[in-house]
Amino acid sequence: MGVSPPSSFAAARAVVLQRIAEAADRSGRDPQGVEVVAVTKTVQPDQIRAAAAAGFRSFGENRVQERQAKAEELATLAAEGAAPGAAAGRPVTWHLVGPLQSNKARRAVELFDVIETVDSLELAQRLDRIAADVRPTARLRVLLQVNVDDDPGKAGFHPAELEREVAAILELRGLGVEGLMTVGRLVDSAEAARETFVSLRAVSERLRALHSSLGAGLSMGMTDDYPVAVEEGATIVRIGRAIFGDRPAGR
Ligand SMILES: *Cc1c(COP(=O)(O)O)cnc(C)c1O
Repeated sequence: MGVSPPSSFAAARAVVLQRIAEAADRSGRDPQGVEVVAVTKTVQPDQIRAAAAAGFRSFGENRVQERQAKAEELATLAAEGAAPGAAAGRPVTWHLVGPLQSNKARRAVELFDVIETVDSLELAQRLDRIAADVRPTARLRVLLQVNVDDDPGKAGFHPAELEREVAAILELRGLGVEGLMTVGRLVDSAEAARETFVSLRAVSERLRALHSSLGAGLSMGMTDDYPVAVEEGATIVRIGRAIFGDRPAGR
């Protein structure tokens, strides 16, 4: 479905926050418990800067190289955002929301604040070693990606696999495992995505009953379905097109 570009980033942000507030209200949640990650793949740095000026503080890229290509131009973003306006004082954080190959793990740790796509014990162990080296004073914030739909085309732990490996991941002292993330199946209605979100929350609840150090975060929901994700407990929604408009085909 095509999404028209918003008339302004402030207007886009107001719509997104309003729809989150309504969804939170329907499910008796506090809308403050939902973080919007503005997904900036294919978006140029000047647009990202304008979005930050409108109040967006969390951004997501799905490729390490694309983040790297824009990093220099955006190096001052946090300071700019701390100037006048609603976003004053809040730091900018970058989330990696796409698959991470092990040979890019070091760059990812250098360029991102949160890695949402940890999808194997091996990758977690590698990130743990790198984090100890690159940023020894703070744990690296990560989420574990879960393929709750058992979709062969999707990355992520299968739930049974995660159940076996999660204890070993939680022992890694360099990582702060803040919760779970999923990329839903392509479906033709927001309602059809609900099952995926319910499943992710169920996996989270089951694992957290056994492992208290697993965070309660749930990153789920995108432009076409984030209100449903919020109804089902999302703490992070990853939104691209509703903020920046349609992307070139295939991205
Ligand atoms: C592109 C992307 C998004 C945002 O998708 P929209 O439909 O533009 O909101 C969210 N999550 C991931 C992993 C993505 O790659």
